[in-house]
Amino acid sequence: MSADAREFELIRQLFVRQIAARSDVVLGIGDDAAITRVPPDHELLTATDSLVAGTHFLDEDDPASVGHRCLAINLSDLAAMGATPLWASLAIHMPEADEDWLKTFADGFFSLADRFGVQLIGGDTVRGPLALTVTVQGIVPTGQAVRRAGASAGDLLYLTGYPGSAAFGRLHQDSELASCFFFPEPRLSIGQELRGLASAMIDISDGVDSDLGHLLHASQVGATLDIEDLPVIHAAHAKLGGESVSELVLFGGEDYELCFSVPPAREPGLIQRAESWTVPLTRLGVINDMPALQWRKGGKIFSVPDKTFEHFSDS
Ligand code: ADP
Ligand code: MG
Repeated sequence: MSADAREFELIRQLFVRQIAARSDVVLGIGDDAAITRVPPDHELLTATDSLVAGTHFLDEDDPASVGHRCLAINLSDLAAMGATPLWASLAIHMPEADEDWLKTFADGFFSLADRFGVQLIGGDTVRGPLALTVTVQGIVPTGQAVRRAGASAGDLLYLTGYPGSAAFGRLHQDSELASCFFFPEPRLSIGQELRGLASAMIDISDGVDSDLGHLLHASQVGATLDIEDLPVIHAAHAKLGGESVSELVLFGGEDYELCFSVPPAREPGLIQRAESWTVPLTRLGVINDMPALQWRKGGKIFSVPDKTFEHFSDS
């Protein structure tokens, strides 16, 4: 075994664990590929996302946060489909084996994985600029995954939590809200509860404006958003004022909340479910037939040709 191989064998050992073994994993880490079992009458969903040092995190960021985030952003994609996560694989690119960094990274990764019963079943470890790529797999009962396409005119638009918190926390060094950025919570149980209720769903990774735009585009519909009904991040409101908070909610990223549409007939069912949620649910507006996202503020309608907030600020 070369020095290189020994170094990376060490890394691999950090990720082989005896605990948290799932019964649907026939063969985990150690062979050329993992073997897993998908239960009958279910479909398998797969999502992949990467974090690259210098782009998605900083070298000096807490490695536990990097470990948490690289899994959380993937689990959020499964949440947005209504899926139950089962397995993950992890590709680590590192310039050289840094055992301390990796141990803390692994703590962050596994504390999230264990909370959702996700088993790491494989990966790759290679020398290169620091980057992490995670693939997660999950299941839904056949035909029940919630897609971006599926919203129709008249459906009501909803949003979980307080998007904008991550951007505010990071920019303004607000320690409580910064944890929204460094340790985002994937809305898995909410996503699963929305199967059969939501007609379309997406997770908010780039900001409400941008990701809602993707949902509308996939569904080939438009929407009118009531700007005055956007959830208010109180700490941000106190510091920045209302206009800037709306801007944060619409354009801030990295929150991993869920945005979804619900046919009016299912709204009572949604409200009832949401009573047990630990995050607030906000009604944002209504889906319509126009091929655009519009904002309504002070009774006036504003179209959204680009991302300049001035288009609907008072003047
Ligand atoms: P191969 O050359 O066949 O890809 P590797 O040495 O890359 O073999 O991997 C050996 C085993 O260790 C495989 O089961 C692989 O999935 C697992 N593995 C490698 N790196 C990681 C990692 N970072 N996290 C989890 N499992 C890993
Ligand atoms: Mg390999």
